[in-house]
Amino acid sequence: MDGDVRPMKARKRGSNVTACATETIRVIRAAHLGMCFGVRDAIALALEHADAGPLTILGDLVHNPSVLSALEAKGVAVAQDVAEVKTTTLMVTAHGTSERTLARTRALGLNVVEATCPLVHVAHRAVTTLARDGYHVVIVGRRDHVEVRGLTGDLDRFDVVLEDDDVLALEEHPRIGVAAQTTQAVEKVRHVVDLIKQRFPRSEVRFIDTVCKPTKDRQSAAAELARQSEVVIVVGGRSSNNTRELVNTCARHCTRVHHVQTDADVRPEWFDGVNVIGLTAGTSTPGDVIDRVEARIRRLAEQEASAST
Ligand code: SF4
Repeated sequence: MDGDVRPMKARKRGSNVTACATETIRVIRAAHLGMCFGVRDAIALALEHADAGPLTILGDLVHNPSVLSALEAKGVAVAQDVAEVKTTTLMVTAHGTSERTLARTRALGLNVVEATCPLVHVAHRAVTTLARDGYHVVIVGRRDHVEVRGLTGDLDRFDVVLEDDDVLALEEHPRIGVAAQTTQAVEKVRHVVDLIKQRFPRSEVRFIDTVCKPTKDRQSAAAELARQSEVVIVVGGRSSNNTRELVNTCARHCTRVHHVQTDADVRPEWFDGVNVIGLTAGTSTPGDVIDRVEARIRRLAEQEASAST
């Protein structure tokens, strides 16, 4: 673990604790946290093209308000559908899109900048393979997420499931092919696959694991972090799927988990009587946002420690 163990002022945890004079407050960063290469490259591409001329992005580039504000300041427009685009250049985000949508952009004569993450392309290939081999495709993910819309956009028949109830609502098919939104928690995906197998014992169920490695790394590092921490702070956009999954993962190992978007969301009362604070962040969270959150955690934890001595 990438532990930042800069000691801070010792704290007294209650009047009957004298040994605390030797204790230090630690802020520990998860071994893997923050922005993944796919999002980082997509942002760099968006900024480069925004400087070159008017640009529209198809859907949110990242689920992070500070990055979106920076792009807005450069005049970058966001469209939820190709039909809304008013610029000649359209950018497809790291989340990717379907071939059908790409065909519509070509038909409109738009200049397309593709920032689809290579690992989203892997998920698209998995879905294509399952459909080609005659499986009824089931995606484990959020129905309304842009990546899931892209993964299913070329299919005529498919299902999207996330919760146990969604599996109960599925119809039987002789062959069921399962793939996942790249940012889902892999344990959750495996649980859903097991449930599908139990529900349809006569069906052939094939699962291709398309959860991306950066997501898996962040989830396992978050679990490890939460096991060591009294409080965990998870930094990321409210609508970021992988950030929400990190919160859920941490909550399985630590009872005090807080999701913040920026340093302004960090509350002093979270650190009362706390010595070990864990810090992690979703794949769309920029490094400077994480740094500011850490600085505020240190400041507030130090103030809390001073107030209680
Ligand atoms: S979360 Fe994974 S699939 Fe999505 S952009 Fe990052 S690396 Fe690519």
